[in-house]
Amino acid sequence: MNALLLSGGRVIDPANHFDAIADLLIDKGKVAAIGRDAALKAPPEVERVDVKGLVVCPGLIDLHVHLREPGQTAKETIATGTAAAARGGLTSVVCMPNTAPPIDNAGTVALIHELASEQGVVNVYVAGAITKNIAGEELAPIGSLKGAGVVAITDDGHCVQNNDLMRRALEYAKMFNLPVMDHCQDYSLVTDGVMHEGYWSTALGRRGWPAAGEEMIVARNSLLAELTGARIHCQHLSAAGSVRLLRDAKKRGVPISGEACPHHFTLTDSAVAGSEKFWNGDGKRIFGAAQDQSDRPFWPAYDTNLKMNPPLRSARDRDAILEGLIDGTIDILCSDHAPHCGYEKEVEFDYAPFGITGLETELSLALMQLYHAGSLDLRQVIEKFTTAPARLLNLDKGTLHVGAEADVTVFDPEREWVFDKTAGASKSLNSPFHGWSLKGKAVLTIVGGIKAWVEQRELVGV
Ligand SMILES: [Zn+2]
Repeated sequence: MNALLLSGGRVIDPANHFDAIADLLIDKGKVAAIGRDAALKAPPEVERVDVKGLVVCPGLIDLHVHLREPGQTAKETIATGTAAAARGGLTSVVCMPNTAPPIDNAGTVALIHELASEQGVVNVYVAGAITKNIAGEELAPIGSLKGAGVVAITDDGHCVQNNDLMRRALEYAKMFNLPVMDHCQDYSLVTDGVMHEGYWSTALGRRGWPAAGEEMIVARNSLLAELTGARIHCQHLSAAGSVRLLRDAKKRGVPISGEACPHHFTLTDSAVAGSEKFWNGDGKRIFGAAQDQSDRPFWPAYDTNLKMNPPLRSARDRDAILEGLIDGTIDILCSDHAPHCGYEKEVEFDYAPFGITGLETELSLALMQLYHAGSLDLRQVIEKFTTAPARLLNLDKGTLHVGAEADVTVFDPEREWVFDKTAGASKSLNSPFHGWSLKGKAVLTIVGGIKAWVEQRELVGV
């Protein structure tokens, strides 16, 4: 493993309140020095990489990723999913347990750790299930999951409906110092809804998934977090009411947090009616000048790449999610990368599975909607991808302090590019952002001192 000297970049390390043009030396897989003495401390055989004009930050963490192993390798594998992560600038991902079979026992956790160490190009952390078989009926062996190394528990894709069972899960998880993450969906309200319940579900004649179906569980979770004192994290928030509930609960000191995904703070339910309706309505103002009239991508009505769970919501909800990210109510950015095969998505809207890919576009969309829009600075965006998820999951990651594992993301915040889903590393192509002009891109991803992804030829060392 060569020593690496990243020279002349803007190093932003929120954990250490560091933001300056500086050199970063990586040696033996660790951060060895930052600043003036980095070049002096470099061994003679060091590989120098010129990163002038680029941002150097702690490796980004995505705590909500479906890697589909074991059992669903036609959609994604640990090899392809982690390769997609590296291209997106992520150095660590947390994989969700709704696999086949689900990750509800220590043996399956061990299997994933083994596959990840053989085939993964980024760090893979495992989220275990809350309930056996993700059936919502009986608690999974939370202690032995913790013993096997899970960093959190969740029934993601499903939601524990029984409030007493959820209370017990929180009490157990607290004993093991494990955060509980929850996919917030009240089944009795949502039934078989396929898109946000509102104007467009009526206009398009699709069954609605009301915002209250999410808000109900966010409210439940804040009550249970308060009752038990256990840490609960609400996944992929999509509704304005969820943000309001979270804001109120946090104000009162309840141990609750939330995350948001780019599709929920970029698109709205009008996109299900086709690109025309979106660009001429809710999409008019997004990205300011970045999305040029002439290269606005086209998609038809009922495009199943606009179907995810929770669904795209109204412009009011989208704006509330952005507001929550801006005022700090929503702590964490992630993708909910949910790959599906072409044949599964190429069916009528009602029959298609929920979910879209997201690892390769999340950083760009976050930069566009938050940084380029003038709402957050780079440090604040980076925090939501690094220190915030690391803190929630008790990971020794998300920082560039000397001696830390050298997980480093180098990105160009100004780089303009067009996302081509067929050119990515994911096994699946179910992205609604195909053909979009994006701004900001990871160009070098370093995991444990090793280059996991290099975008630009000029970044190859000299
Ligand atoms: Zn989910």
